Amino acid sequence: MTRQKNFGIEHIFLDQTARNAPLTRRILRALKGVPVTIVKSKGAFLRGAGQMPLASGKKSLWLTRFKSGFLKPCPATGTDYLCCRYWTLNVQTHCPLDCTYCILQNYLNVPLITIYVNTENIPHEIDALLANQPGRLFRMGTGELTDSLALDPLTHFNRDLIRTALKRKMILEIKTKTDLIRHLPKVPKKNIVVSWSLNPEEFIRTQEFKSAPLAKRLETAAAAVKKGYRLGFHFDPLLLLPGWKEKYAALIEKLTRTVPENEVMWISLGSLRFPPPLKKVIEERFPKTGIATAEFVRGLDGKMRYFRPGRVKLYRHIYEALRKKWRDVFIYFCMENKTVWRDVMGFAPENNAGLDYLFHESIARRFPELDLSIPDSRAYTDQER
Ligand code: SF4
Repeated sequence: MTRQKNFGIEHIFLDQTARNAPLTRRILRALKGVPVTIVKSKGAFLRGAGQMPLASGKKSLWLTRFKSGFLKPCPATGTDYLCCRYWTLNVQTHCPLDCTYCILQNYLNVPLITIYVNTENIPHEIDALLANQPGRLFRMGTGELTDSLALDPLTHFNRDLIRTALKRKMILEIKTKTDLIRHLPKVPKKNIVVSWSLNPEEFIRTQEFKSAPLAKRLETAAAAVKKGYRLGFHFDPLLLLPGWKEKYAALIEKLTRTVPENEVMWISLGSLRFPPPLKKVIEERFPKTGIATAEFVRGLDGKMRYFRPGRVKLYRHIYEALRKKWRDVFIYFCMENKTVWRDVMGFAPENNAGLDYLFHESIARRFPELDLSIPDSRAYTDQER
């Protein structure tokens, strides 16, 4: 990712109730010279901002406060698809990168890059969650509605979060498509994962604008290991574009040559999926992309996906290529059904809790320095998401 001046931010809208927050002051200091508009009437402002084109929204920051808690279970996507029961910390929405398939183009009403500045209660939120189910290993991250690092050299939000996570029995994931790790602190090799979403370089160039090239992502992952971080990789969204077989095979070659398996906590596989109205947005904003013209089927969750035989072919190819190189790394599907699990991996977790349990078991076994006992499966019931 080429760092643009002021991270590409050309205007700041500041909710007057967020004016005095330390994070607001930090951001305003770092973006000195960028025009600021103080917003007194939030409702009227947001109604107007809703009409703003996405391209302008990506150049504007909206600093505000969030009314409720930040820590939420991953919204998942309907009962027919297994969810790993991840938890999200949505402290920011949208990001300055521009991926053709980004679901946020359709999902959020306000296209501005929004940063919530009242994050001081997050450690208490985390403590309350962990205390509620002490036998469980919670995984959580900030990369669900944004890129965790694209603006982090500006906010330094992860610095505080890492400090919080290091003291607790949990796994924190920082998910990105950038190479912006220089500002991250060195950490003891423990429970902090930096993860990259991966695609072949040709797909990155045509679908993931303003993100770091593949070689840079991999080089940065190797550098993150030296700083004490564990790694994660997300082959998501997998794209059935011309040449996919050779391109994904070459990508796996590069990945497995660049970082050691024993530093990688997990790898996810997920194929392109999107709500039907996103197709129109993609075609309007990125008329040359080609990804929305494939044949899709509407899944039981209402989202468009490649037909199941195509998905299975894609997953098998990736899964087998990965397994040839890395026998033990934890590989899972993000939002796939049990039939696909069985067709590709030969088994399927019984339910969401069963998948969550497999994470805990793999992390406890592969990373003994975390001092996690192999869990009692009774700690993992499907009562709660
Ligand atoms: S990095 Fe994530 S949040 Fe940012 S544009 Fe791409 S898909 Fe959307």
